[in-house]
Parts: sequence; structure tokens; C-alpha cells
Amino acid sequence: MQRVTILGSTGSIGTSTLDVIARNPELYQVFALVAGKNWQLMAEQCKQFLPQYAVMQDAEAAQQLSQFVAQQGLFVTVLSGEQSACDVASDESVGSVMAAIVGAAGLMPTLAAIKAGKRVLLANKESLVMSGELFINEVKRSGATLLPIDSEHNAIFQAMPSSVQENCFSANLAQHGVSKILLTGSGGPFRTRDLNSFANISVDEAVAHPNWDMGKKISVDSATMMNKGLEFIEAKWLFNAEPDDIQVVIHPQSIIHSMVQYSDGSVLAQMGNPDMRTPIAHALAYPKRIDAGVAPLDFTQMVDFSFIAPDFERYPNLKLAIDACSEGQYATTAINAANEQSVAAFLENKIGFLDIYRINSQVLNEIAKQHKHMAINNLDEILQLDSEARALANNMITGSC
Ligand code: NDP
Repeated sequence: MQRVTILGSTGSIGTSTLDVIARNPELYQVFALVAGKNWQLMAEQCKQFLPQYAVMQDAEAAQQLSQFVAQQGLFVTVLSGEQSACDVASDESVGSVMAAIVGAAGLMPTLAAIKAGKRVLLANKESLVMSGELFINEVKRSGATLLPIDSEHNAIFQAMPSSVQENCFSANLAQHGVSKILLTGSGGPFRTRDLNSFANISVDEAVAHPNWDMGKKISVDSATMMNKGLEFIEAKWLFNAEPDDIQVVIHPQSIIHSMVQYSDGSVLAQMGNPDMRTPIAHALAYPKRIDAGVAPLDFTQMVDFSFIAPDFERYPNLKLAIDACSEGQYATTAINAANEQSVAAFLENKIGFLDIYRINSQVLNEIAKQHKHMAINNLDEILQLDSEARALANNMITGSC
């Protein structure tokens, strides 16, 4: 029986994780659930899964949840704040931690789990993009197991030789016969939309992904393809790859979730219906396989299976992130922070869709003027840079309103 803490339990990944756990009650027990504000959904989750701890980031939400738990007579301890999230992610009785808080808010609890040497199932790509080398060094130092949840990285992991799987962050890919990581993406909802109409894209249109049902931030990131850019940076760190080792390919059907090309010409692909319960189940059970509740693929029903190169005029955020990956840590920390602010402002209707790229690129330019050659050695420096980039983005957002 594996004891699991879920960071971000009320979100899209969190609820899918609980669904997989509910299908396999003999294997997994929920130790703690962590979320931000949605105490009503957390209350339902507490009733169903009876965790030892439920942590709400928001103090008022924690108070509401405490009242509910007391009224229902549930044996669940309700806590609040980031330190409590770190504590339940690193508790000695926990085996696995699902890291699925959205954005930079996930960094500290995810790092706490890593420092404690847990098996960490990483959905929160932003924490890795933000802190790259420092994050991976902590994994190496603590001996934590890091398994990718992003469907693309999970697919790449599955298509890698077992010798690389055992030693992902340090393996020399070429020595293992790997010649390319082919990172696929659907192209999002605006793959064929007239470029002249991009200025009019509404929030509802941007969050309506054609293949995946996800949280709002990652849905907008998929529409701009910043998500693929963040994944590009994530792949570099997870698989010890150079930017030249990674190629983005648009595959609109989202059936192949990514591929690994070998020096003998072979290409190994991982396929499945677009349902996050597959990578979640894979990472929970690795190296075994468990039921995920996902319908099998029916190849006789597939009408189209296509691949195209990304168009950077349509997806300038993708190019920005790929360039930042070559540029270094200061650049990836800055675009992650700028993008979180600009996407939040877009979701609040404060800026338009095209402003997301404008703000992200301007913040990166400003940060580069001061920090281009800055060696980032510790968490304080990363957090400082993150705040600087957010402040710059916020000024630009205020100027746009
Ligand atoms: P959602 O927006 O659906 O959920 C986010 C979760 O994070 C919620 O539980 C939310 O709580 C919680 N949260 C937000 N802020 C805080 C905070 N400060 N402290 C504690 N908890 C907080 O996001 P997704 O599930 O879509 O995405 C989660 C992560 O997984 C992201 O990093 C995303 O990039 C990644 N990912 C998601 C995929 C998907 O299919 N959804 C696919 C691949 C990766 P509440 O709602 O209660 O405030």
C-alpha cells in the first residue's frame, strides 16, 4: 500500500489522480490533499478519501473546511499555508507525491518532497522551468525518484531505453543510441484560425482545447503554444538533453504523445487516447501497469494521422521559450514568471490574446539587459529574479489596461 500526497487535488490533474487511486484502492491510500481555495471540492474529497491531512493555501478556505470536517465528524486534520503543504509533501510516512499545483506556487512543496527523497510525480512543469539545474541537483542529491506526468514527457520516458529511464538526468543520450526527442503537440484551438483575427480571441475560445480537458492556465498556454515551449525546457532537464536534441512536431490528433528517434533509424512512439489518467497511472505504478479507466485506442476508427512543423508566426511564444532554453536559467525563470502574469491578466480580460507574447518578450528583453550573464546559484536568487520579472510584467499589464 503506497501512501500518496496530492498537491493540487482540486485541479484537473488532482481529480484525475484521485480517479485512478479510487480504481486501485488495494494499492494506494491518500495521506494528504493540498489545494488553494476550492474548499467545497476539497470537502467532497475528504469525505470520499479520508486523508489524514487536508491543506488549503487560503486561510479562510481552511476555516470553512474545518467547520465542514467537524460537522461531518471526519478524522481529517485541516491545515493552512505553504509550510503545511511542504510538511505533508515531505512527511516520513508518504511514499509518492503528485506535484500538480499550477504555476510557481508549486515550487516549494515540490522541492520539499524532492529534498525528502520521495517518489515525485511531476505535473507542475513551471517549477522545473523556473529552477532547472537547482531542481535537478536536489533530485540527484536526495536520491528522489522523479517521474514525468506531462503526457509528452511520460511518453518520451516510456520510449527511452531502460538504461536511460534508470538514469534520466545524467544519461548521455547519444551513447544510448538516442538521436532525437520528438516532442509532439496538437497546435491548440487556433492551428487553422486566420492570423488577422488573433487580436479578437476571447477567453472562452482560448480555454476550449480541441483534445484535452485541462485547467485554464495550461489551456491558454496550449493556445499560444507557450506550453510546448515550457515542455521543451522541461525535456532538456528531465532527459539531460541539449536544445538541438529536441524537435517540436505538430500532431493535431493527440494520439501519439511524443517519440524517441534512434541512431539506427527506429522511432519509438507512445500512443493512447488523450486522457491524463494514462500517464498518471503509469507514473503511480511504474514499472508495473494498473487500470486507469481509459478506453483503448481503436485504430480502425482513426481517419487522419498527420504531422506538421510549427509555424513561429502563429506561435511566437513557442520560439521565445525555445530561445530562452538556449539562453539559460535567467531567461527561463523570467519567461515563466512573465507568462504566469500575462496569462492571468488575459484570463481576467485585462489584456488581449496578442498582449501575452508582447509582455513575455518585453519582460525577457528587460531582464536580459541586467541579468544576461548572471550565474544563478541558489533559490533566493531564483525567487528574486522571478519577482523582478513579475513586477515588470505587472507594470506592462497596468499600462495596457
Ligand atoms: P488546475 O488549474 O486545474 O488546478 C490547479 C490546482 O492547484 C488546484 O488544485 C488549485 O487549488 C491548486 N493551487 C493553485 N494555487 C495554489 C497554491 N498557491 N497553493 C496550493 N494549491 C494551489 O491546473 P491543472 O490540473 O490543469 O494543472 C496543474 C499542473 O499540471 C500545471 O503545472 C500544469 O502545467 C500541469 N499539467 C496539467 C495537465 C492537464 O491535463 N491538466 C497536463 C500536463 C501538465 P484551488 O482550485 O482549490 O484553488
